[in-house]
Amino acid sequence: MPHNKPTRSEREFQDLLRRLELALDASQIGVWEHDVRKSGIVWDAQMHRLYQTGETSRLVPTSIWENAIHPDDRDRAFAEFDDAIARRGAYNSEFRIIWPNGEIRHMRSRAHFFVSEDGAPSFIGAEWDVTADVELAAELQRQRLVAEARAKALEESNARIEHAAEHDYLTGLPNRRLLDKRLAELHGNKSVSSLAVLHLDLDQFKQINDSHGHSAGDTVLRAAALRITAGIPADGMVARVGGDEFVIILWNFAGREELDRIASDLQRRLGKKIRFGQELLQSGTSIGVAWNNGRNARNLLTESDLALFQAKKLGRNRIEFFTRQLQDDIQSKRRLAEELRLGLERREIVPYYQIQLDAKTREIAGLEALARWIHPEKGVLSPAVFLKVADENGLAAEIDAAILSRVLEDRLDWQAQGAVVPRVAVNISGPRLFDPGLLANLEALKIPSGALSFELVETIFLDDSDDRLVASIERIKQMGIDIEIDDFGSGHASLIGLARLRPKRLKIDRQLVTDIVGSKEQHRVVGSIVEIAKALNVEVIAEGVETEGHAEVLTAIGCDTLQGYALGYPAPAADIARLIAPRALNHATPGVGGR
Ligand code: C2E
Ligand code: CA
Ligand code: CA
Repeated sequence: MPHNKPTRSEREFQDLLRRLELALDASQIGVWEHDVRKSGIVWDAQMHRLYQTGETSRLVPTSIWENAIHPDDRDRAFAEFDDAIARRGAYNSEFRIIWPNGEIRHMRSRAHFFVSEDGAPSFIGAEWDVTADVELAAELQRQRLVAEARAKALEESNARIEHAAEHDYLTGLPNRRLLDKRLAELHGNKSVSSLAVLHLDLDQFKQINDSHGHSAGDTVLRAAALRITAGIPADGMVARVGGDEFVIILWNFAGREELDRIASDLQRRLGKKIRFGQELLQSGTSIGVAWNNGRNARNLLTESDLALFQAKKLGRNRIEFFTRQLQDDIQSKRRLAEELRLGLERREIVPYYQIQLDAKTREIAGLEALARWIHPEKGVLSPAVFLKVADENGLAAEIDAAILSRVLEDRLDWQAQGAVVPRVAVNISGPRLFDPGLLANLEALKIPSGALSFELVETIFLDDSDDRLVASIERIKQMGIDIEIDDFGSGHASLIGLARLRPKRLKIDRQLVTDIVGSKEQHRVVGSIVEIAKALNVEVIAEGVETEGHAEVLTAIGCDTLQGYALGYPAPAADIARLIAPRALNHATPGVGGR
């Protein structure tokens, strides 16, 4: 049947149309058509719904669209449409509209240009509401920003924590940890040709802190940090590694001269005065330097520290370089300290005794116990060899204790031999006097009253006029032990010691005695010391009596007791026994023993 085909086609077309309407309805897409020569548009029902016009008429004025557009989007939306007209091409736009109730919606509009059957240039377009999409996109964007901000905050706080772990809170400088890390990197870096470590220490920091308070100390440290930072080259870094200690690493510098220059420059910068409130603070700087100098140096930190130690020892505000010699000295000292420790255990530290004679009668008035190290290989060693090492290694108090206990043993020995044992003077070092166990120890030893005297150097009292110290000295006196001030007049303000301590005796320093026969001045000085002592009811011992001439002058001046090579060299306990024990063969002849 010839009609069949078109009829089916018509049905198919109707079918297609219905499906399209359903689809449009389901998708809520509005359709519009616009003959650009006219001021009207054709809108379907969905377009009216999308714009909430409340109308249904198919033909609407273009102003209905134009007025609905959000004022902020209007110019752009018009321009885009005009552009599509001009191009006679596709139109694709997105804009906001305002519903009559004031609500704002986002619309998407797409259209195609075509020329209608009657030759009119037209657009047919589809438009739909994308508010939900836009809001979702906006929400996602907001969440992304929040997440980003959070991530950034986290990163920042991580960075802060990391920074705090590797920096010093006070100065903001890197700390020991970062320094070690950096140094390890530099060690492993092939392009590093020279590497140096400078160890700095502020000389007067402790005094500043003690006398001006902690905030003054903080000010000094901050100023030092800034000055050092300003004073080191770009190939350098500074860290604060302890109270007032800084470590600088330098790399790729020219050589020793440049190191010298940088170190002196730092010292100059750090030596400038620092304002703190009304006051001006100032400190010297000691610097120890170690550098690789063509060798494969792995211990620059330790080496610069040793060099710093040396700088301090040699008198502060100095720059010292680490050397082989320094290394050897330190090693041999360390060995000596080890040996000394062993020597103490093996009772190799013993007292020698030097007699003290009554100036007028020349009878034995006392003995001074002087430490000797009976070394298994090196023989008899004098304190000059080991006292300093002992001091530096905290063994001074132990030596004093060893001597004291040997003195008490020797006394008993001598007594057993029938001797009337004179008073024995033992030297007490600073650390021993500050030893909190000292009093208890002494008490346990049950020292007979008048048997001992303690020789203290006056510097102890200058450094620390501590009340506790004075109290423990009082306690020592109560135990029947005399207090003597040693090396009196050797350059310190001796009168302080005299007044505070009320010692039983003072010992005039050897140096004042040496020239007493020839020098009127020495004579006068010793004369006035004796006068003052007499006025305070303090006895006077002169040491370093090397000649009969010395002895005579000192006796004439009024010294009570004499001690020196002219009267007797320090000698071992057995020799002293022969001097003081009646059973001994040789009777008291001064000048026993050898040095
Ligand atoms: P010091 O207390 O001034 O002891 C006197 C030193 O002068 C002793 O030196 C003694 O041998 C020496 N001497 C004695 N007569 C003369 C003399 O006529 N001319 C000269 N030039 N020197 C004389 P030594 O035994 O070498 O002791 C040196 C220092 O070591 C002592 O000086 C003392 O400060 C310290 N010392 C010695 N034994 C001990 C000790 O057991 N403990 C402590 N803490 N220090 C000690
Ligand atoms: Ca002494
Ligand atoms: Ca002395």
